[in-house]
Amino acid sequence: MSGTRRPEPLLEIRDLRLETGPGPDPVRLVDGVDLTIGAGEVLGLVGESGSGKSLTMRSVLGLLPTGVRVGGGEALWDGSDLLAYDEKRLRPVRGGEVGMVFQDPSQALDPLMRVGDHIVETLRLHDRGLSRSAARERAVAALAGVGVPDPARRARQYPHEFSGGMKQRAMIAVALANRPRLLIADEPTTALDVTIQAQILDLLRTARDELGTAVVLITHDLGLVAEISDRVAVMYAGRIVETGPVERIFREPAHPYTRGLLASRPHLAARGTDLPAIGGQPPAPAQRPSGCAFHPRCALALPECSVQVPTLTIRGAGHLAACHLEAPPETTADTTSEGVLR
Ligand code: SF4
Repeated sequence: MSGTRRPEPLLEIRDLRLETGPGPDPVRLVDGVDLTIGAGEVLGLVGESGSGKSLTMRSVLGLLPTGVRVGGGEALWDGSDLLAYDEKRLRPVRGGEVGMVFQDPSQALDPLMRVGDHIVETLRLHDRGLSRSAARERAVAALAGVGVPDPARRARQYPHEFSGGMKQRAMIAVALANRPRLLIADEPTTALDVTIQAQILDLLRTARDELGTAVVLITHDLGLVAEISDRVAVMYAGRIVETGPVERIFREPAHPYTRGLLASRPHLAARGTDLPAIGGQPPAPAQRPSGCAFHPRCALALPECSVQVPTLTIRGAGHLAACHLEAPPETTADTTSEGVLR
């Protein structure tokens, strides 16, 4: 799926705005996000926590936290706007056409329900004609399909009897039970060790290759993105700041923030030293600076950066970046005000 030729759009998010707070001047959490996910494509949605990446994808399924609302925009799925759906219309989409995997399995696995029954319930919710015994058989097959050993016995167990990695596999089995066209995986490997991480990534890859499922991988870890994604979208302070094919973003990142993230990857840290980090912190949504929200952390900032919001402009085939610099310097290191590598 790599390369610049794009598949048919499956989900098109246009000018999405999410906000919180009362009155005519709410706090903007997500500000004008455009994102297209193609059929069978893996998109890595990357950024530090608070950048709005999870909120963006949750809004599509009507799963926004209390107090956060849609302030505008569209999320087109088969030509109709999911943001306008009520709960009843969203139900067949959620868990049916779109599956979701979270970092914390407790968000998806009820501790009082047997693991297999989660899959049975999901299957029968979306296929009323399916008998309980047939659904049970499919649940066992689904657990086997994600590498849960002894799946018939494991299906009868409760979530607390599963290890962290096994719970994550079970959650993926629930999410894939109805062969969704899109899987949203929100930091699915963050709490897991490296070996299990690799296995979970393999499952996502298999879902794409064998079921043709498109995947949005939400993560702060560009290393994960490199392993599995076709395209990358980088978010900062509620906006997309760079997007493009994965090889291009890794080879020629145009935005200083992306370059900082790339330089912060663990393998670049010298053994025994602290992990390098981008200097400073992302701003709180209510305190985002004027102009480019990254300017207080950016060593390359120009005078206009604190005044004018940069818009996404074309940097190559399928590659867009929102930065006033036309061509950043060659090095990928030290593009932030405190130096990327510390
Ligand atoms: Fe933002 Fe300016 Fe730095 Fe580009 S150069 S990231 S516009 S502060």
